[in-house]
Amino acid sequence: MALKEACGLLGIFSSSFDKTIAKTVYYGLFALQHRGQESAGIAVSDTNSIRHHKGLGLVSEVFDEDELEKLCGKIAIGHVRYSTTGSNVFSNAQPLVIRYHSGELAVAHNGNLVNALEIRERLEKNGLMFHTTTDSEVIAALIARSQTNLIDSIFSCVKQIHGAYSLLLMSKDQLIAVRDPHGFRPLCLGSYNGSYVVASESAAFNTIGATFIRDLKPGEILLIDDSGLKSYELPKSKRSLCVFEFVYFARPDSTIDGVSVYLARYRAGAILAEQHPAEADLVVAVPDSGSVAAIGFSDQSKIPLGMGLIKNRYIGRTFIEPSERMRNLGVRLKLSPLKELIDGKRVVLVDDSIVRGTTMGQIVKMLRDCGAKEIHVRISSPPITHSCYFGIDTSTKRELIASRFDAESIRQFIGADSLGYLNLEGLIEATGLTEKELCLACFNGDYPVMTPMEGKKYLFEKR
Ligand code: 5GP
Ligand code: MG
Repeated sequence: MALKEACGLLGIFSSSFDKTIAKTVYYGLFALQHRGQESAGIAVSDTNSIRHHKGLGLVSEVFDEDELEKLCGKIAIGHVRYSTTGSNVFSNAQPLVIRYHSGELAVAHNGNLVNALEIRERLEKNGLMFHTTTDSEVIAALIARSQTNLIDSIFSCVKQIHGAYSLLLMSKDQLIAVRDPHGFRPLCLGSYNGSYVVASESAAFNTIGATFIRDLKPGEILLIDDSGLKSYELPKSKRSLCVFEFVYFARPDSTIDGVSVYLARYRAGAILAEQHPAEADLVVAVPDSGSVAAIGFSDQSKIPLGMGLIKNRYIGRTFIEPSERMRNLGVRLKLSPLKELIDGKRVVLVDDSIVRGTTMGQIVKMLRDCGAKEIHVRISSPPITHSCYFGIDTSTKRELIASRFDAESIRQFIGADSLGYLNLEGLIEATGLTEKELCLACFNGDYPVMTPMEGKKYLFEKR
């Protein structure tokens, strides 16, 4: 099972009926495509009813002009998915649209619940039926069961669920955004032309011409309707923003909880150069995930940066294809070495992370084949030793190379002359946040929420 990223959310509450609302969401989701490429969907309310369209694949594959033109309305939510709980099948695509006693409700979820199975089994014993295998349906079911107004139902739902969730909910006349009390996943608010937008990442605002207003607070429930914004607060918990958002997930042009992702990555690279200097002629980034850290490394070490690896820009992330054989091919499909630059050089090769170690092993070999004299691998985050249960799909710890081998064994495995990881203190320093504000579980096993057993991604299928 591959490591997979979190999903992406975008919602709009328009000041008036908007014929092009779905198109705006479409462009916003486009900007969030890096957060998930398995499925995409948009639900729109015209204040009478909710219509939606979703499918497997990239945003550009799921929607065409016709589809988007049919989705006119005043409120809309969209989702791009990379599965965390539940396999990649159509029924698991989001937003989930349900009909219940108070009308229709659309739900889009980013994150992963750790007690979804318990809740689902309890509900099933009471006669409830489920149509999907995602934990997001559990959220919808809990809300639908509650016999009160939507906000109270949401309160009752979130009291029962544990784990990571950034949520967008849409009734026919309300848009509600929820960020879990730990604030695991980002969620922010923006505006344009009197309309409100909520998105997983602020970079999506740039794309659709919206202005960033603020991040949602951990534990905030934000209700948007015709009377404006109303903010509610869930009981406080330990703040635990996922540090991997800064390492890998988020776009460098996003700002999360006041921290620029670009600057965090740049500083990580610079601190890495201090912690693990190398005698070398050239710094080469593994694009795109290592690009910003490589700039920081180069600036700090005064070793020039060169584009030693060229990325095929028409290829998605190699993790899309889960089989080992295709993943290996994927690296060569995606990256080509520039022999003219590499030949005879001592190279510092910078990437953001090593997960299973397959990518780096292949790249090192490609550079050697091009005549690199020495290859010094530098990783701008610590060894990933623990599974994530909060939206990153590292359910099987065994697959994480650093959970079983030390740095020297990994160096041998990838065939590098030296290997240096940024340490945890360095990574925390790079974010400018404190240890107390971050979830660092994948690096240190310190889980902010009680976690279930390993390997539960397919928990609903396996029963
Ligand atoms: P490995 O071959 O070691 O398993 O993968 C390492 C590469 O995967 C790195 O270049 C890193 O940027 C990328 N990576 C790290 N985390 C994730 C993730 O959650 N999803 C995807 N698609 N790629 C990741
Ligand atoms: Mg990468």
